[in-house]
Amino acid sequence: MIKVGVFGASGRVGKLLIEDLKKTEEMSLSTVFVRNTLDFTIDPSLLVTSDMHSFLNACDIVIDFSLPEACEILLEEAIKTPKPLVIGTTGLNQHQLNLLKQASELMPVLYATNMSLGVALLNKLVYQASAALEDFDIEIVEMHHRHKKDAPSGTALTLGESAAAGRNLDLDKVRVSGRDGNIGERSNDEIAVMALRGGDIVGRHTVGFYNDGEFIELNHTATSRNTFSKGALRAAKWLTNKDAGLYSIADCLEL
Ligand code: NAD
Repeated sequence: MIKVGVFGASGRVGKLLIEDLKKTEEMSLSTVFVRNTLDFTIDPSLLVTSDMHSFLNACDIVIDFSLPEACEILLEEAIKTPKPLVIGTTGLNQHQLNLLKQASELMPVLYATNMSLGVALLNKLVYQASAALEDFDIEIVEMHHRHKKDAPSGTALTLGESAAAGRNLDLDKVRVSGRDGNIGERSNDEIAVMALRGGDIVGRHTVGFYNDGEFIELNHTATSRNTFSKGALRAAKWLTNKDAGLYSIADCLEL
C-alpha cells in the first residue's frame, strides 16, 4: 500500500483527494499537513501535523495542491528529506520553479499545471496546430471561478508554451496579457493569454487559431474538480517507483 501525504488538505482539490483516496486501490492516506487546525473530521489514526519533517516521514509520496508560497516551503523541506512529489500548485515564480528543478535532481517530481487527460491531449493538439497553421493568429482565453488567485491560469500558460514551441518562439517574448487603448495592430508572432473570472467555473480553456476567412478553436472544459484529484492520484501511483527526475503528466499518460 502506497502511503500518501496530502499538502493543501483543506483546499478545494485537497478535500477531494482525501475522499478519492478512500476509493483508490493500492494507495491510502497516511498524513495531512495543516497550518493551524483541520476544519473537518478525519480518521483519528491518520497523522495531522504542522511539522513538515513528521509529515514527510509519515508518507511514501506527497500530493500538493496548495499555494505557491506553501509549495516553496514544501520543496525546501523535501530537498532535505527527499520524497516523490506530485505538484499541482500553479502560479509558481522563477525561484519556486528553480527549487522544483533542484528537488527533481534528488527525487522523482511530477509537475502538472493541469492533471486532466483532456488538457494533456489538448497541449499536443495545440503544438501540432500551431506548427501546421503558421499564418494563423493564436489567442488563448481561460475562465475560472471567482476564488482563483493566480492569473492567467497555469494551464493557459502551459498551452501558450505549447503554441509557442510549435513555432520555435519563446512565450515570454511574445505573450500579451491585456489590450487597452490605442495599441496599434496585432503583430504576427504575439500570443495573447487572457483571463476571465466569475461564479463557480471549474476551468475552461480555448485556444483559437484565426486567419482571414476561417478559424479553428480548440476548447476544453472541466466540469468537475474530481478530474484533477483523480488525475493526481493516477500520477502518484505512476511516480512512486520512478528514478529522480522531472516528469510531466504527458509522461505519465504516455502521450
Ligand atoms: P484552495 O485555496 O481551495 O486551497 C489551498 C490550500 O493550500 C488550502 O488547504 C490552504 O490551507 C493551503 N495553504 C495555503 N497556504 C499554506 C501554507 N502556507 N502552508 C500550508 N498550506 C497552505 O485552492 P484549490 O482550488 O484547492 O487549488 C490549489 C492549487 O492547485 C492552486 O494553485 C490551483 O491553481 C491549483 N490547481 C491545480 C490543478 C491541476 O490540475 N494542476 C487543478 C485545480 C487547481
